[in-house]
Amino acid sequence: MGLKEHILQVLKSNETRRINFSFMGDDGRTIQIDYTAFQKVITAIEGGKITFGDAATLPSGSDGGYTSDGNSFTIRPAMTWSRLFNALIVHESVHAYFDITSMRLLGIDSEAAGYIAQGYYLHNSGFTRDIPDDLVSVGRRCINTRATGHINSDDLTRLRSNIENDSRYASILFRNPASSDLFNASNRKYFQGNGV
Ligand SMILES: [Zn+2]
Repeated sequence: MGLKEHILQVLKSNETRRINFSFMGDDGRTIQIDYTAFQKVITAIEGGKITFGDAATLPSGSDGGYTSDGNSFTIRPAMTWSRLFNALIVHESVHAYFDITSMRLLGIDSEAAGYIAQGYYLHNSGFTRDIPDDLVSVGRRCINTRATGHINSDDLTRLRSNIENDSRYASILFRNPASSDLFNASNRKYFQGNGV
């Protein structure tokens, strides 16, 4: 099975269908992720509107990425065919969803949504081993198993803080003085989807 077929299989799985949460972003926007989001990504992939990038272009320390400019999905092949790999597909698909729907939201909220969805997939798949990536581990703790659709606010606060302190994300979270990026009054940078 090729990467494209594998991604589609993960996005159509029961584990992904049962992902359902929302939270309020730093700018007051409600961010909602449920199966309708993943269905949009499936449609874009099946329609050939999302391409698959060369993993050699990923920065070190990064196992996957989604680039809105080229609508390109990249996953490091060394990760292949495990539930951790499938969960990474779910994370990058959240970014793809924000892109194809031309959504504007703060970078921190885009990443938080990705990590919560990634942890949610592992939760739904009954993954009981320790999660090697701390951000994914905190993302999983955000899921409120007693109230579907809601997340634990203390864990969300910790997740945001951990993302902000991770140097891999500096360029997408904070204003770059040399650029004309969109940013809010606190110099927090926006992600702006541009459709497919
Ligand atoms: Zn991400």
